Amino acid sequence: MANLYIDTRGRAEEPIPFTQAVVQGLADGGGLYVPQSIPQFSLDEILNLSTMPYAQRAAHIYKAFGIDLPESQVDELMDAAYGSNFDSADICPITSLDENTHILELWHGPTSAFKDMALQCLPLFFSASAQKLRDEGVIDHTFLILVATSGDTGKAALEGFKDKDGVKIGVLYPHGGVSDIQHKQMATQAGENVKVWAVRGNFDDCQTGVKLTFADSEFAQELMSEHKVALSSANSINWGRLLPQVVYYVSSYAQLVAQGKVEAGAPIDVCVPTGNFGNILAAWYAKQMGAPIERLLCASNENRVLTDFINTGTYDISDREFVLTPSPSMDILVSSNLERQLFELTGRNAEAIAGWMNDLNTQKKFRVDPETFAALRRDFASDSVSSDDCLKTIKEVLDEHDYLLDPHTAVAYKVAERLRGENPVLVASTAHWAKFGVSVYRALHDLAPDAGLPADVAELTGCELNNLIAQQTGKSHIPAGLAELDTKPLRFKQVIDAGKPNIQDATRAFLSE
Ligand SMILES: *Cc1c(COP(=O)(O)O)cnc(C)c1O
Repeated sequence: MANLYIDTRGRAEEPIPFTQAVVQGLADGGGLYVPQSIPQFSLDEILNLSTMPYAQRAAHIYKAFGIDLPESQVDELMDAAYGSNFDSADICPITSLDENTHILELWHGPTSAFKDMALQCLPLFFSASAQKLRDEGVIDHTFLILVATSGDTGKAALEGFKDKDGVKIGVLYPHGGVSDIQHKQMATQAGENVKVWAVRGNFDDCQTGVKLTFADSEFAQELMSEHKVALSSANSINWGRLLPQVVYYVSSYAQLVAQGKVEAGAPIDVCVPTGNFGNILAAWYAKQMGAPIERLLCASNENRVLTDFINTGTYDISDREFVLTPSPSMDILVSSNLERQLFELTGRNAEAIAGWMNDLNTQKKFRVDPETFAALRRDFASDSVSSDDCLKTIKEVLDEHDYLLDPHTAVAYKVAERLRGENPVLVASTAHWAKFGVSVYRALHDLAPDAGLPADVAELTGCELNNLIAQQTGKSHIPAGLAELDTKPLRFKQVIDAGKPNIQDATRAFLSE
Protein backbone atom coordinates (compact mmCIF):
# COMPACT_ATOMS: atom_id res chain seq x y z
CA MET A 1 0.00 0.00 0.00
CA ALA A 2 1.21 3.49 -0.76
CA ASN A 3 2.78 5.33 2.16
CA LEU A 4 2.15 9.07 2.25
CA TYR A 5 4.54 11.86 3.20
CA ILE A 6 3.94 14.56 5.80
CA ASP A 7 6.11 17.60 6.50
CA THR A 8 8.12 18.47 9.60
CA ARG A 9 6.54 21.89 10.14
CA GLY A 10 2.92 20.92 9.58
CA ARG A 11 2.47 23.58 6.90
CA ALA A 12 1.93 21.48 3.77
CA GLU A 13 -1.73 21.18 2.80
CA GLU A 14 -2.07 17.42 2.69
CA PRO A 15 0.04 14.25 2.76
CA ILE A 16 1.45 13.35 -0.67
CA PRO A 17 2.83 10.16 -2.23
CA PHE A 18 6.53 9.38 -2.75
CA THR A 19 6.60 10.47 -6.40
CA GLN A 20 5.36 13.96 -5.53
CA ALA A 21 7.66 14.28 -2.53
CA VAL A 22 10.60 13.42 -4.81
CA VAL A 23 9.93 15.97 -7.55
CA GLN A 24 8.96 18.65 -5.03
CA GLY A 25 11.95 18.24 -2.68
CA LEU A 26 11.09 20.84 -0.05
CA ALA A 27 7.53 21.11 1.31
CA ASP A 28 5.52 24.33 1.03
CA GLY A 29 6.18 26.30 4.21
CA GLY A 30 9.82 25.20 4.38
CA GLY A 31 9.39 21.82 6.09
CA LEU A 32 10.90 18.49 5.02
CA TYR A 33 8.95 15.41 3.99
CA VAL A 34 9.02 12.25 6.08
CA PRO A 35 7.03 9.03 5.56
CA GLN A 36 3.84 8.71 7.59
CA SER A 37 4.84 5.22 8.67
CA ILE A 38 8.19 3.51 8.99
CA PRO A 39 8.11 -0.17 8.03
CA GLN A 40 9.27 -2.70 10.65
CA PHE A 41 11.49 -5.62 9.67
CA SER A 42 12.01 -8.73 11.77
CA LEU A 43 15.57 -9.90 12.32
CA ASP A 44 14.98 -12.76 9.89
CA GLU A 45 13.77 -10.42 7.19
CA ILE A 46 16.89 -8.28 7.65
CA LEU A 47 19.28 -11.23 7.65
CA ASN A 48 17.59 -12.67 4.57
CA LEU A 49 18.66 -9.58 2.60
CA SER A 50 22.19 -11.00 2.45
CA THR A 51 20.96 -13.70 0.06
CA MET A 52 20.00 -11.09 -2.55
CA PRO A 53 22.11 -8.91 -4.84
CA TYR A 54 22.33 -5.32 -3.61
CA ALA A 55 19.80 -3.99 -6.17
CA GLN A 56 17.19 -6.44 -4.89
CA ARG A 57 17.84 -5.46 -1.29
CA ALA A 58 17.22 -1.86 -2.23
CA ALA A 59 14.04 -2.74 -4.13
CA HIS A 60 12.80 -4.80 -1.17
CA ILE A 61 13.24 -1.88 1.22
CA TYR A 62 11.72 0.65 -1.19
CA LYS A 63 8.63 -1.53 -1.57
CA ALA A 64 8.33 -1.80 2.22
CA PHE A 65 8.28 2.01 2.32
CA GLY A 66 5.22 2.02 0.05
CA ILE A 67 6.58 3.66 -3.09
CA ASP A 68 3.73 4.60 -5.46
CA LEU A 69 5.38 3.07 -8.53
CA PRO A 70 4.72 -0.46 -9.87
CA GLU A 71 6.86 -3.09 -8.14
CA SER A 72 8.32 -4.29 -11.44
CA GLN A 73 9.42 -0.72 -12.18
CA VAL A 74 11.09 -0.41 -8.76
CA ASP A 75 13.01 -3.62 -9.57
CA GLU A 76 14.11 -2.25 -12.95
CA LEU A 77 15.18 1.11 -11.58
CA MET A 78 17.22 -0.52 -8.81
CA ASP A 79 18.95 -2.83 -11.31
CA ALA A 80 19.92 0.29 -13.26
CA ALA A 81 20.97 2.20 -10.12
CA TYR A 82 23.21 -0.48 -8.60
CA GLY A 83 24.96 -2.43 -11.32
CA SER A 84 28.15 -2.15 -13.35
CA ASN A 85 28.29 1.60 -12.67
CA PHE A 86 29.86 0.52 -9.35
CA ASP A 87 33.31 -1.04 -9.36
CA SER A 88 32.38 -3.66 -6.75
CA ALA A 89 29.70 -6.33 -7.20
CA ASP A 90 28.86 -5.83 -3.51
CA ILE A 91 28.19 -2.12 -4.34
CA CYS A 92 29.35 -1.08 -0.85
CA PRO A 93 31.69 -3.78 0.50
CA ILE A 94 32.80 -3.93 4.12
CA THR A 95 36.52 -4.13 4.95
CA SER A 96 37.30 -5.15 8.53
CA LEU A 97 40.40 -3.63 10.13
CA ASP A 98 40.09 -5.80 13.23
CA GLU A 99 37.42 -7.93 14.92
CA ASN A 100 35.40 -4.94 16.03
CA THR A 101 36.13 -2.26 13.43
CA HIS A 102 34.35 -2.58 10.12
CA ILE A 103 34.70 -0.01 7.34
CA LEU A 104 31.62 0.38 5.15
CA GLU A 105 33.08 1.54 1.81
CA LEU A 106 30.46 3.80 0.28
CA TRP A 107 32.71 5.11 -2.50
CA HIS A 108 32.68 2.43 -5.18
CA GLY A 109 30.39 4.46 -7.45
CA PRO A 110 31.36 6.48 -10.55
CA THR A 111 32.54 9.64 -8.70
CA SER A 112 34.26 7.85 -5.79
CA ALA A 113 32.28 9.60 -3.05
CA PHE A 114 29.41 8.26 -0.98
CA LYS A 115 26.96 10.66 -2.59
CA ASP A 116 26.85 8.24 -5.54
CA MET A 117 24.97 5.78 -3.31
CA ALA A 118 22.02 8.18 -3.38
CA LEU A 119 22.67 10.05 -6.62
CA GLN A 120 22.90 6.97 -8.82
CA CYS A 121 19.42 6.13 -7.55
CA LEU A 122 17.47 9.37 -6.98
CA PRO A 123 17.64 10.63 -10.60
CA LEU A 124 16.06 7.40 -11.90
CA PHE A 125 13.23 7.72 -9.40
CA PHE A 126 12.98 11.45 -10.09
CA SER A 127 12.63 10.87 -13.81
CA ALA A 128 10.12 8.01 -13.31
CA SER A 129 8.14 10.07 -10.77
CA ALA A 130 7.95 13.06 -13.12
CA GLN A 131 6.82 10.80 -15.96
CA LYS A 132 4.10 9.28 -13.78
CA LEU A 133 2.84 12.72 -12.75
CA ARG A 134 2.82 13.85 -16.40
CA ASP A 135 0.93 10.70 -17.44
CA GLU A 136 -1.65 11.40 -14.73
CA GLY A 137 -1.97 15.01 -15.83
CA VAL A 138 -0.78 16.31 -12.43
CA ILE A 139 2.03 18.25 -14.15
CA ASP A 140 2.76 19.08 -17.79
CA HIS A 141 6.36 20.27 -17.58
CA THR A 142 9.94 19.03 -17.32
CA PHE A 143 12.59 19.97 -14.73
CA LEU A 144 15.84 21.84 -14.40
CA ILE A 145 17.96 20.80 -11.43
CA LEU A 146 20.24 23.58 -10.18
CA VAL A 147 23.03 22.65 -7.80
CA ALA A 148 25.56 24.84 -6.00
CA THR A 149 28.53 22.73 -4.99
CA SER A 150 31.75 23.01 -3.01
CA GLY A 151 33.04 20.02 -4.98
CA ASP A 152 31.61 16.56 -4.35
CA THR A 153 27.84 16.91 -4.62
CA GLY A 154 27.95 18.63 -8.00
CA LYS A 155 29.87 15.87 -9.72
CA ALA A 156 27.77 13.11 -8.18
CA ALA A 157 24.57 14.94 -9.23
CA LEU A 158 25.87 15.48 -12.80
CA GLU A 159 26.78 11.83 -13.15
CA GLY A 160 23.41 10.75 -11.71
CA PHE A 161 21.21 13.03 -13.84
CA LYS A 162 23.17 12.80 -17.11
CA ASP A 163 20.91 11.77 -20.00
CA LYS A 164 17.88 11.13 -17.78
CA ASP A 165 14.55 11.86 -19.48
CA GLY A 166 12.57 14.99 -18.72
CA VAL A 167 15.29 16.70 -16.71
CA LYS A 168 18.32 18.92 -17.25
CA ILE A 169 21.00 19.77 -14.71
CA GLY A 170 23.17 22.84 -14.19
CA VAL A 171 25.95 22.95 -11.59
CA LEU A 172 27.72 26.01 -10.16
CA TYR A 173 31.03 25.80 -8.34
CA PRO A 174 33.41 28.49 -7.04
CA HIS A 175 36.00 29.42 -9.71
CA GLY A 176 39.42 28.44 -8.34
CA GLY A 177 37.75 27.15 -5.16
CA VAL A 178 37.78 23.42 -5.82
CA SER A 179 40.66 20.95 -6.15
CA ASP A 180 42.23 20.09 -9.52
CA ILE A 181 40.56 16.66 -9.36
CA GLN A 182 37.14 18.13 -8.53
CA HIS A 183 37.45 20.76 -11.26
CA LYS A 184 38.37 18.18 -13.89
CA GLN A 185 35.68 15.78 -12.72
CA MET A 186 33.05 18.43 -13.40
CA ALA A 187 34.54 20.15 -16.45
CA THR A 188 34.88 16.82 -18.32
CA GLN A 189 31.32 15.72 -17.55
CA ALA A 190 29.58 13.79 -20.34
CA GLY A 191 25.86 13.97 -21.17
CA GLU A 192 23.48 15.87 -23.45
CA ASN A 193 21.45 17.52 -20.68
CA VAL A 194 24.23 18.86 -18.45
CA LYS A 195 25.90 22.25 -17.88
CA VAL A 196 28.67 23.38 -15.54
CA TRP A 197 29.53 26.97 -14.61
CA ALA A 198 32.46 28.30 -12.62
CA VAL A 199 31.33 31.32 -10.59
CA ARG A 200 33.64 34.23 -9.68
CA GLY A 201 33.26 34.06 -5.90
CA ASN A 202 33.22 31.47 -3.14
CA PHE A 203 30.84 28.60 -2.39
CA ASP A 204 28.59 30.89 -0.41
CA ASP A 205 28.17 33.15 -3.46
CA CYS A 206 27.15 30.11 -5.52
CA GLN A 207 24.71 28.91 -2.90
CA THR A 208 23.16 32.32 -2.28
CA GLY A 209 22.74 32.89 -6.01
CA VAL A 210 20.98 29.55 -6.42
CA LYS A 211 18.76 30.13 -3.37
CA LEU A 212 17.72 33.56 -4.64
CA THR A 213 17.03 32.08 -8.06
CA PHE A 214 14.78 29.43 -6.49
CA ALA A 215 12.96 32.09 -4.47
CA ASP A 216 12.25 34.31 -7.52
CA SER A 217 8.66 33.54 -8.51
CA GLU A 218 8.75 35.82 -11.57
CA PHE A 219 11.72 33.87 -12.91
CA ALA A 220 9.87 30.61 -12.19
CA GLN A 221 6.90 31.87 -14.23
CA GLU A 222 9.17 32.88 -17.08
CA LEU A 223 10.81 29.43 -17.21
CA MET A 224 7.43 27.77 -17.11
CA SER A 225 5.85 29.88 -19.85
CA GLU A 226 8.88 30.02 -22.17
CA HIS A 227 10.36 26.57 -21.61
CA LYS A 228 7.75 24.51 -19.72
CA VAL A 229 10.38 23.90 -17.08
CA ALA A 230 10.22 23.96 -13.27
CA LEU A 231 13.30 24.37 -11.10
CA SER A 232 14.14 21.66 -8.61
CA SER A 233 17.06 20.75 -6.39
CA ALA A 234 18.85 17.52 -5.73
CA ASN A 235 20.19 18.28 -2.28
CA SER A 236 19.98 16.00 0.71
CA ILE A 237 16.73 17.48 1.98
CA ASN A 238 15.03 15.41 -0.76
CA TRP A 239 13.58 12.21 0.74
CA GLY A 240 14.59 10.44 -2.46
CA ARG A 241 18.21 10.97 -1.45
CA LEU A 242 17.75 9.67 2.07
CA LEU A 243 16.00 6.40 1.37
CA PRO A 244 18.90 4.90 -0.65
CA GLN A 245 21.05 5.57 2.40
CA VAL A 246 18.69 3.73 4.74
CA VAL A 247 19.15 0.72 2.45
CA TYR A 248 22.87 0.34 3.03
CA TYR A 249 22.66 0.43 6.81
CA VAL A 250 20.02 -2.32 6.95
CA SER A 251 21.86 -4.24 4.26
CA SER A 252 25.27 -3.99 5.89
CA TYR A 253 23.98 -5.46 9.15
CA ALA A 254 22.86 -8.50 7.16
CA GLN A 255 26.25 -8.53 5.43
CA LEU A 256 28.18 -8.46 8.73
CA VAL A 257 26.19 -11.41 10.05
CA ALA A 258 26.51 -13.36 6.78
CA GLN A 259 30.28 -12.84 6.86
CA GLY A 260 30.42 -14.19 10.43
CA LYS A 261 31.64 -10.87 11.81
CA VAL A 262 28.63 -10.21 14.05
CA GLU A 263 26.32 -12.70 15.76
CA ALA A 264 22.73 -12.59 14.51
CA GLY A 265 20.85 -10.07 16.62
CA ALA A 266 23.92 -8.70 18.44
CA PRO A 267 24.01 -4.90 18.57
CA ILE A 268 26.48 -2.77 16.64
CA ASP A 269 27.29 0.93 16.83
CA VAL A 270 27.55 3.02 13.68
CA CYS A 271 29.96 5.95 13.34
CA VAL A 272 29.29 8.52 10.61
CA PRO A 273 31.35 11.52 9.44
CA THR A 274 28.61 14.11 9.51
CA GLY A 275 27.91 17.37 7.71
CA ASN A 276 24.29 17.88 6.71
CA PHE A 277 23.11 15.05 8.99
CA GLY A 278 21.67 13.02 6.08
CA ASN A 279 23.88 9.98 6.31
CA ILE A 280 23.57 9.54 10.08
CA LEU A 281 19.81 10.17 9.94
CA ALA A 282 19.55 7.30 7.46
CA ALA A 283 21.27 5.06 10.03
CA TRP A 284 18.70 6.18 12.61
CA TYR A 285 15.85 5.19 10.29
CA ALA A 286 17.54 1.81 9.77
CA LYS A 287 17.56 1.40 13.55
CA GLN A 288 13.85 2.30 13.69
CA MET A 289 13.12 -0.35 11.07
CA GLY A 290 14.63 -2.98 13.32
CA ALA A 291 18.33 -3.16 12.41
CA PRO A 292 20.17 -3.98 15.68
CA ILE A 293 22.02 -0.68 15.83
CA GLU A 294 22.57 0.56 19.37
CA ARG A 295 24.37 3.89 19.29
CA LEU A 296 24.88 6.36 16.50
CA LEU A 297 28.24 8.07 16.81
CA CYS A 298 28.21 11.47 15.14
CA ALA A 299 31.69 12.53 14.02
CA SER A 300 32.42 16.23 13.43
CA ASN A 301 35.52 18.04 12.25
CA GLU A 302 36.48 21.45 13.67
CA ASN A 303 33.06 22.75 12.60
CA ARG A 304 31.65 21.13 15.71
CA VAL A 305 28.15 22.58 15.92
CA LEU A 306 26.55 19.11 15.90
CA THR A 307 28.90 17.75 18.56
CA ASP A 308 28.07 20.67 20.82
CA PHE A 309 24.37 20.21 20.13
CA ILE A 310 24.39 16.51 20.94
CA ASN A 311 26.34 17.18 24.11
CA THR A 312 24.35 20.20 25.36
CA GLY A 313 20.93 20.34 23.66
CA THR A 314 21.63 23.82 22.29
CA TYR A 315 22.26 24.39 18.58
CA ASP A 316 24.12 27.66 18.37
CA ILE A 317 25.70 29.30 15.32
CA SER A 318 25.46 32.86 16.67
CA ASP A 319 29.14 33.07 17.52
CA ARG A 320 30.71 30.34 15.43
CA GLU A 321 33.35 30.79 12.79
CA PHE A 322 33.28 28.66 9.69
CA VAL A 323 36.56 26.71 9.58
CA LEU A 324 38.16 25.24 6.43
CA THR A 325 39.31 21.69 7.21
CA PRO A 326 40.82 18.72 5.33
CA SER A 327 37.27 17.25 5.25
CA PRO A 328 35.48 19.98 3.25
CA SER A 329 32.24 18.04 2.75
CA MET A 330 31.68 18.31 6.51
CA ASP A 331 32.41 22.05 6.66
CA ILE A 332 28.82 22.98 7.38
CA LEU A 333 27.17 25.18 10.00
CA VAL A 334 23.48 24.54 9.33
CA SER A 335 22.76 20.81 9.11
CA SER A 336 19.42 20.73 7.30
CA ASN A 337 18.51 17.12 7.99
CA LEU A 338 18.68 17.60 11.76
CA GLU A 339 15.16 18.98 11.36
CA ARG A 340 13.88 15.53 10.40
CA GLN A 341 15.68 13.93 13.32
CA LEU A 342 14.16 16.37 15.80
CA PHE A 343 10.72 15.86 14.29
CA GLU A 344 11.06 12.13 14.96
CA LEU A 345 12.57 12.52 18.44
CA THR A 346 9.76 14.85 19.59
CA GLY A 347 7.18 12.26 18.59
CA ARG A 348 6.48 14.26 15.42
CA ASN A 349 5.72 17.59 17.04
CA ALA A 350 5.55 19.96 14.05
CA GLU A 351 4.81 22.98 16.26
CA ALA A 352 8.02 22.48 18.24
CA ILE A 353 10.05 22.11 15.04
CA ALA A 354 8.54 25.22 13.44
CA GLY A 355 9.39 27.14 16.63
CA TRP A 356 13.01 25.96 16.80
CA MET A 357 13.60 26.62 13.11
CA ASN A 358 12.21 30.10 13.61
CA ASP A 359 14.58 30.63 16.58
CA LEU A 360 17.47 29.47 14.41
CA ASN A 361 16.51 32.00 11.75
CA THR A 362 15.99 34.94 14.06
CA GLN A 363 18.42 34.28 16.96
CA LYS A 364 20.91 31.95 15.25
CA LYS A 365 20.27 29.33 17.94
CA PHE A 366 17.67 27.09 19.51
CA ARG A 367 17.44 24.89 22.57
CA VAL A 368 15.45 21.67 22.69
CA ASP A 369 13.29 20.68 25.67
CA PRO A 370 14.61 18.18 28.27
CA GLU A 371 12.56 15.22 26.95
CA THR A 372 13.85 15.69 23.42
CA PHE A 373 17.39 16.09 24.72
CA ALA A 374 17.05 12.84 26.68
CA ALA A 375 15.75 11.07 23.57
CA LEU A 376 18.70 12.43 21.58
CA ARG A 377 21.17 11.20 24.20
CA ARG A 378 19.65 7.72 24.18
CA ASP A 379 20.50 7.21 20.49
CA PHE A 380 23.46 9.51 19.83
CA ALA A 381 26.93 10.30 21.09
CA SER A 382 29.30 12.75 19.40
CA ASP A 383 32.82 14.09 19.34
CA SER A 384 34.86 16.35 17.09
CA VAL A 385 38.33 15.88 15.65
CA SER A 386 40.89 18.61 15.00
CA SER A 387 42.43 18.93 11.55
CA ASP A 388 45.80 17.91 13.02
CA ASP A 389 44.35 14.75 14.53
CA CYS A 390 42.52 13.96 11.31
CA LEU A 391 45.79 13.88 9.34
CA LYS A 392 47.61 11.98 12.10
CA THR A 393 44.85 9.36 12.03
CA ILE A 394 45.36 8.77 8.29
CA LYS A 395 49.01 7.99 8.89
CA GLU A 396 48.40 5.88 12.02
CA VAL A 397 45.79 3.71 10.32
CA LEU A 398 48.03 3.19 7.28
CA ASP A 399 50.93 2.16 9.53
CA GLU A 400 48.81 -0.06 11.76
CA HIS A 401 46.32 -1.63 9.33
CA ASP A 402 47.81 -0.98 5.87
CA TYR A 403 44.57 0.80 4.93
CA LEU A 404 44.43 4.31 3.51
CA LEU A 405 41.57 6.51 4.76
CA ASP A 406 40.30 9.70 3.18
CA PRO A 407 40.13 12.68 5.60
CA HIS A 408 36.34 12.40 6.15
CA THR A 409 36.57 8.74 7.07
CA ALA A 410 39.58 9.50 9.27
CA VAL A 411 37.43 11.88 11.34
CA ALA A 412 34.90 9.08 11.86
CA TYR A 413 37.60 6.51 12.62
CA LYS A 414 39.04 8.72 15.34
CA VAL A 415 35.65 9.40 16.92
CA ALA A 416 34.87 5.67 16.88
CA GLU A 417 38.15 5.04 18.66
CA ARG A 418 37.29 7.60 21.33
CA LEU A 419 33.64 6.76 21.93
CA ARG A 420 33.51 3.03 21.34
CA GLY A 421 32.17 0.64 23.98
CA GLU A 422 31.72 -3.11 23.80
CA ASN A 423 29.87 -3.21 20.49
CA PRO A 424 31.53 -3.70 17.13
CA VAL A 425 31.59 -0.41 15.22
CA LEU A 426 30.62 0.07 11.59
CA VAL A 427 32.48 3.16 10.33
CA ALA A 428 30.89 4.83 7.31
CA SER A 429 33.67 5.53 4.79
CA THR A 430 32.48 8.36 2.59
CA ALA A 431 35.21 8.94 0.01
CA HIS A 432 38.09 7.24 -1.74
CA TRP A 433 41.39 8.76 -0.58
CA ALA A 434 42.30 9.80 -4.14
CA LYS A 435 39.58 12.48 -4.08
CA PHE A 436 41.57 14.29 -1.39
CA GLY A 437 45.16 13.62 -2.42
CA VAL A 438 46.61 16.91 -1.17
CA SER A 439 45.49 16.30 2.42
CA VAL A 440 46.53 12.65 2.22
CA TYR A 441 49.99 13.72 1.02
CA ARG A 442 50.29 16.10 3.97
CA ALA A 443 49.22 13.33 6.35
CA LEU A 444 51.80 10.88 5.01
CA HIS A 445 54.60 13.45 5.26
CA ASP A 446 53.73 14.89 8.68
CA LEU A 447 52.84 18.29 7.22
CA ALA A 448 50.37 20.61 8.93
CA PRO A 449 46.80 20.71 7.51
CA ASP A 450 47.42 24.12 5.91
CA ALA A 451 51.10 23.63 4.99
CA GLY A 452 52.29 24.36 1.46
CA LEU A 453 53.50 21.37 -0.52
CA PRO A 454 57.17 21.05 -1.57
CA ALA A 455 57.66 22.92 -4.87
CA ASP A 456 58.08 19.78 -7.01
CA VAL A 457 54.94 18.25 -5.52
CA ALA A 458 52.91 21.45 -5.78
CA GLU A 459 53.49 21.40 -9.55
CA LEU A 460 51.80 18.03 -10.02
CA THR A 461 48.27 17.65 -11.31
CA GLY A 462 45.81 15.90 -9.01
CA CYS A 463 46.24 12.67 -10.98
CA GLU A 464 50.03 12.86 -10.84
CA LEU A 465 49.92 13.50 -7.09
CA ASN A 466 47.67 10.47 -6.62
CA ASN A 467 50.13 8.33 -8.59
CA LEU A 468 52.93 9.53 -6.32
CA ILE A 469 50.91 8.67 -3.21
CA ALA A 470 50.05 5.27 -4.70
CA GLN A 471 53.78 4.63 -5.25
CA GLN A 472 54.72 5.75 -1.75
CA THR A 473 52.04 3.72 0.03
CA GLY A 474 51.66 0.69 -2.22
CA LYS A 475 47.94 1.59 -2.54
CA SER A 476 48.00 1.36 -6.30
CA HIS A 477 44.28 1.06 -6.98
CA ILE A 478 42.94 4.43 -8.13
CA PRO A 479 39.34 4.33 -9.43
CA ALA A 480 39.15 4.67 -13.23
CA GLY A 481 37.04 7.83 -13.10
CA LEU A 482 39.80 9.60 -11.16
CA ALA A 483 42.82 8.03 -12.83
CA GLU A 484 41.86 9.12 -16.37
CA LEU A 485 41.02 12.76 -15.69
CA ASP A 486 44.19 14.29 -17.19
CA THR A 487 43.50 12.61 -20.54
CA LYS A 488 39.93 13.85 -20.98
CA PRO A 489 39.12 17.07 -22.85
CA LEU A 490 37.71 19.91 -20.72
CA ARG A 491 34.20 20.40 -22.01
CA PHE A 492 32.95 23.22 -19.77
CA LYS A 493 35.10 26.33 -19.44
CA GLN A 494 32.54 29.07 -18.91
CA VAL A 495 33.15 31.43 -15.99
CA ILE A 496 30.28 33.67 -14.89
CA ASP A 497 29.96 36.47 -12.35
CA ALA A 498 28.18 35.78 -9.06
CA GLY A 499 24.74 37.21 -8.36
CA LYS A 500 21.21 36.20 -9.23
CA PRO A 501 20.92 38.08 -12.58
CA ASN A 502 24.04 36.38 -13.98
CA ILE A 503 22.94 32.95 -12.84
CA GLN A 504 19.51 33.52 -14.36
CA ASP A 505 21.03 34.67 -17.67
CA ALA A 506 23.21 31.56 -17.77
CA THR A 507 20.16 29.43 -17.03
CA ARG A 508 18.14 31.04 -19.84
CA ALA A 509 20.98 30.47 -22.29
CA PHE A 510 21.27 26.81 -21.26
CA LEU A 511 17.54 26.19 -21.70
CA SER A 512 17.59 27.88 -25.13
CA GLU A 513 20.41 25.71 -26.48
C1 LIG B 1 28.51 14.82 1.94
C2 LIG B 1 29.68 14.15 2.60
C3 LIG B 1 29.72 13.91 4.00
C4 LIG B 1 28.62 14.37 4.94
O1 LIG B 1 27.42 13.65 4.81
P1 LIG B 1 26.05 14.29 5.34
O2 LIG B 1 24.98 13.39 4.85
O3 LIG B 1 25.99 15.67 4.74
O4 LIG B 1 26.14 14.34 6.83
C5 LIG B 1 30.81 13.24 4.52
N1 LIG B 1 31.85 12.85 3.72
C6 LIG B 1 31.84 13.07 2.39
C7 LIG B 1 33.02 12.64 1.57
C8 LIG B 1 30.77 13.72 1.78
O5 LIG B 1 30.79 13.95 0.45
